[in-house]
Amino acid sequence: MDPTLTADRVPPFQPLPLIVWGPPPAGVAHRERARRYDLQHQATTVRFDWPRQAVVGTTTLRIAGLPGATPLSSISIDAGDMTFKSVASGATPLKYDYDGSDLVVHLATPLRAGEKTSITIDYDGANRTKGAYFRPARHIVWTQGETEDTRFWVPTYDFPNDKATWEFHIWTAKGERALSNGKLAGSRTVGDSIEWHWVLDKPASTYLMTAVVGKYTVLQEKPWRNVTIGYWTYPDSIQAARRGFANTPEAVDVFSRKTGVPYPWNKYDQIVIPEFQYGGMENVTATSQNDNAILYPAWAEPQANAEGLMAHELAHQWYGDLLTTRAWAHIWLNEGFATFMEQIFREENRGDDEGAFGRLSAQEQVIDADRRARRPIVWDKWVSDPIEVFFSGHIYPKGATILQMLRHQLGDARFWKAMNRYTTANAYGNVVTDDLRKAFEQSTGRNFGTFFQQWVYGAGFPVFQVSSSYDRAARRVVVSAKEVQPRDSLTGFFDVDVDVEVRTDSGIVRFVVPMRNGTGELGAKVKSPPRSIRWDKGNWILDITDFPRSTAMMRYQLVNDDDVLGRIEAVDVLAQRPADQLALDGLVRAGRNDRFWGVRARALDAVGTWASVPNRAEIPAMQHVKTALIYATRDPDARVRQSAATALGRLTVSGNAATEVTIRLREMARSDPSLIVRGVALASDIRLEKNAALPLARQLMEREVWQNVIRAPAQAALKTLDTPEARQLLEEFPPGQQ
Ligand SMILES: [Zn+2]
Repeated sequence: MDPTLTADRVPPFQPLPLIVWGPPPAGVAHRERARRYDLQHQATTVRFDWPRQAVVGTTTLRIAGLPGATPLSSISIDAGDMTFKSVASGATPLKYDYDGSDLVVHLATPLRAGEKTSITIDYDGANRTKGAYFRPARHIVWTQGETEDTRFWVPTYDFPNDKATWEFHIWTAKGERALSNGKLAGSRTVGDSIEWHWVLDKPASTYLMTAVVGKYTVLQEKPWRNVTIGYWTYPDSIQAARRGFANTPEAVDVFSRKTGVPYPWNKYDQIVIPEFQYGGMENVTATSQNDNAILYPAWAEPQANAEGLMAHELAHQWYGDLLTTRAWAHIWLNEGFATFMEQIFREENRGDDEGAFGRLSAQEQVIDADRRARRPIVWDKWVSDPIEVFFSGHIYPKGATILQMLRHQLGDARFWKAMNRYTTANAYGNVVTDDLRKAFEQSTGRNFGTFFQQWVYGAGFPVFQVSSSYDRAARRVVVSAKEVQPRDSLTGFFDVDVDVEVRTDSGIVRFVVPMRNGTGELGAKVKSPPRSIRWDKGNWILDITDFPRSTAMMRYQLVNDDDVLGRIEAVDVLAQRPADQLALDGLVRAGRNDRFWGVRARALDAVGTWASVPNRAEIPAMQHVKTALIYATRDPDARVRQSAATALGRLTVSGNAATEVTIRLREMARSDPSLIVRGVALASDIRLEKNAALPLARQLMEREVWQNVIRAPAQAALKTLDTPEARQLLEEFPPGQQ
């Protein structure tokens, strides 16, 4: 044991900087497209021609001149890689120009403000690279519009800042079905074909147009009020679909209650689609879901779980479809909100610990994102496709984190009242970030200018150095903090009010430290010395905090904090003290005793890291660690057993202890109830036992298992082993092969 690290010693601050901001992502600014006309309604008849993999259709756009606009002699329509048989207004053919992406239709008479016209286009899209996707393995065609790809299967106004109603007549072969937006108005059989007529009678942006065609079984869920709920799945995957979509009615209810806006459309269908590039897509009333994400076997729970995806896409029916970003720069108003609602459903459905854990994981993603490439949430720069701004971490997790901070600042009642105002004021419309600020200010009477400037239009987050002192005579504890993040034109100080909690043997004292211009300090009377002190109780603030506290304090926090994120913080701090056996002992105990699986798993991960350092093999604590890890392999939660199996594979033990470990790993590889855990245990066995583990590896790898959960980890372990025998086995089961 390091003699300088006694349990009561407070270590120094970590060296600065605690974060280096990554350079902003590449790209040039893209302003919102200026609307020239108003698309009001669009009716499309379409069929998908398998032999040519072509989209063949006729579409009629009803268009009105914008109020106050000068008369238009031509109309520009988005159309990607199409050919046209005719363009007409009623019976009158119209002249047009086409450059492969922009169809300019010359009107017979100029369209004046307030006047209406209609344009009918007979089109064929055979050379398309986007928009509609033919998937032969399941003989299914699906479409994907977001961001600006609807134009590759329907000529339309393809930018989110206009809303229209629409209808589709979709032709399929007999035995197939077609799903689209809105209400199924009818279907009729003509020869060997069926025509399906779908009508969306409330306005939406055209990137939400969808058509999916194939052999589907439709499972009708119990309705929510008068909203019908359907699950569209493959005939061979009915049980899995019921499992994957299971909590949809509950989520509809939670979101309707929280927002105060009942589900805003006539029905809600979810359909699984094959070989999809995303998790899901919130096409209005008709969400597409990646079949790999939804259709998982029962044993893969809880690692596999579709509830978050289900809730996310459902939340878009409000945030994204009912209220739609006016330009891609504000896409967090769709995606950050859907991610936030996903967190809300997790909290409602699985409890506060799960909710808090979800918030923490979002914050961790944001911190990583700013390390890679810092940028504000509102951001209009990309290289070639607006989808580039979506997935950096500044939209989904940061958007959700910002809403959680507002929720915490206001408290639930006032927060949801403000959300209701924002939602009702902008229903069926388009929004930018300032609409959110205005609604929150009008609803609460507070000023949110600084908040939005610092967190939404600015970039980065605070890095706190926090210290505390205790005056025994005065029985007073003082907590002071300063912000030490690197500052520049994008990142300044953050004015936040931070919740502090002091636990003592004579009770708990809570107070708030206001951070202003980068500093804050507050003291409070306590009846006895602090046993633990939390900075930002509940972890609501997006930040990095360095708050050096003694090992004794952190151990106390790990055992006694009622906030799961306080116990996680203690795990993370103790994990940084590898030479401190009291810290290690705290982690081992948490891995066994904590009531929340996430704390147990994280503690075991830390123990695994500790145990992997080679020169630890001979120290007495290793025996203790080994015993604890083997105990954890019988944890009721598969995620904890997975952490235990991984940690065992990193253990540096020898002799009898090593034998005991490999025996247990082999038992797990053969018989753990979760095949995911079996795969991880096998990989650990391969790493520890080298060639001796290969016969079992061969035996287990021969089995075809969902998503390769046994073969893939084994392959990774074989690669690191790199013996001739391992290479031979890898040749038999090459990575990437299903
Ligand atoms: Zn989304």
